[in-house]
Amino acid sequence: MIKVKVDRCGYCGACVGVCPVGAIELAETRLLISEACVDCGLCLAACPVGALQAEGYAETDAVPLRRRYDVVVVGAGPGGSVAAREAARLGLSVLLLEKRQEVGSPVRCAEGIAHELLAPFIEPDPRWISAEVSKAQIEVVGDGTTVARQAEGGKGYVLERRVFDRVLAEEAAQAGAQVMVKTAATGLLLEDGVVRGVVARGPAGTMEIECAVVIGADGVESQVGPWAGLDTTLPLRDVMACAQYLLAGIEIDPARCYYYVGQGVAPGGYAWVFPKGEGKANVGLGVQADLAADSALNYLTRFIESQPNLAQGSPVTLMVGGVPVAAPLPRLVASGLMLVGDAARQVDPLTGGGIANAMLAGRLAAEVAAQAIAAGDTSAEALAPYEECWMASRGRKMARNYRLKERFGPDERTSPDFWRVFTVAIGAI
Ligand SMILES: Cc1cc2nc3c(=O)[nH]c(=O)nc-3n(C[C@H](O)[C@H](O)[C@H](O)COP(=O)(O)OP(=O)(O)OC[C@H]3O[C@@H](n4cnc5c(N)ncnc54)[C@H](O)[C@@H]3O)c2cc1C
Ligand code: SF4
Ligand code: SF4
Repeated sequence: MIKVKVDRCGYCGACVGVCPVGAIELAETRLLISEACVDCGLCLAACPVGALQAEGYAETDAVPLRRRYDVVVVGAGPGGSVAAREAARLGLSVLLLEKRQEVGSPVRCAEGIAHELLAPFIEPDPRWISAEVSKAQIEVVGDGTTVARQAEGGKGYVLERRVFDRVLAEEAAQAGAQVMVKTAATGLLLEDGVVRGVVARGPAGTMEIECAVVIGADGVESQVGPWAGLDTTLPLRDVMACAQYLLAGIEIDPARCYYYVGQGVAPGGYAWVFPKGEGKANVGLGVQADLAADSALNYLTRFIESQPNLAQGSPVTLMVGGVPVAAPLPRLVASGLMLVGDAARQVDPLTGGGIANAMLAGRLAAEVAAQAIAAGDTSAEALAPYEECWMASRGRKMARNYRLKERFGPDERTSPDFWRVFTVAIGAI
């Protein structure tokens, strides 16, 4: 019977067509081999990455490779790529690990960001901008009533994150960082509680990589912090469960973002319509996980059906994801370790916006790591200035927005006071 090495499989489908008994089934990111397999071996030759193995075949990739860098960054989202780029620009040797085979894909984001928050990190570029927006409309949906409020926003963008994330990783590589895709961190190298590196697994096998500082930028699903003993567990009430379609064939103002607030629309959260150019938009919503009586996807289906201009469209992509909308973590560092972005729960608790925060945190972490490495001390105390810089720059505002999220319970989100708070918050996504 044939075995699939999931770390290697690129889900290309080349093996499926050669199987004479139809024993191979390719799901989106899963390859299944059924009992019908007759061990003919044809699929082994068809696989471009050697991901299939006959039973009894000796494993060749168990030999650990050992390498050393100043910094290993785990996760090539905006937080990780900016951290890697800045650290490399500061002269450090950097390895950026990404578990997916393509940086930026699949996208888990509504892709909105304000110009003033983006521009300090990268020059806006039409290659990864789908729409430029300058206006916002907030609709408060009550029992049988809808009140719309217009807001002239500052300049902002709806990104094409699939390209945006990749360009940031390319910039990290151009600055001198080594980037490895399809390579997942699977653990940390720990010595007396001090982080000394990472264990990673990818097509090249299992590696033990030593470094002075690990930067965990591994997103909402982060494991790097817990591996080092940092508690990043999210209470259910601090998770937004989200679903989004890219709808095509709709009529919307391509320069306006729309927000919909109301218990019936999205309990504890909101729905959004972010234009992606003429006739298409990211249409999604997030619901507070402990309040929702139904799945986010079902809320979304009902929301789209309730809006005639959206109901006429067709979904061309479906995306689901979780957003941490939590109180600030008490610690963002441990000895030899720093957390940035969603891994550090640095998302705005009112809006769920986290791209700009992740990039800012990535830059701050790189700067503090460089100073600590130069001083030869990467203890938690030496890395703690990162926590202080984060609180002084954006963290204090995130703490305030968490308090506001708590103050305005789901029933109070149709009040004019919440409108005002929310209008300010969405201006800073
Ligand atoms: C539905 C939805 C809508 C959103 N809309 C917006 C919005 O409009 N505007 C906004 O600003 N923010 C938005 N966000 C939030 C935004 O997407 C995140 O805050 C942002 O992507 C955080 O960046 P990051 O670099 O911290 O993490 P991520 O972008 O999540 O990147 C983490 C990376 O780490 C990789 N990784 C994870 N584990 C490992 C491992 N063990 N080894 C190697 N690699 C690993 C992942 O594959 C991933 O590429 C939205 C989120 C969701 C879910
Ligand atoms: S070994 Fe032959 S029968 Fe088995 S899955 Fe591969 S191609 Fe199909
Ligand atoms: S040919 Fe190889 S990489 Fe492609 S789907 Fe089959 S096992 Fe995976």
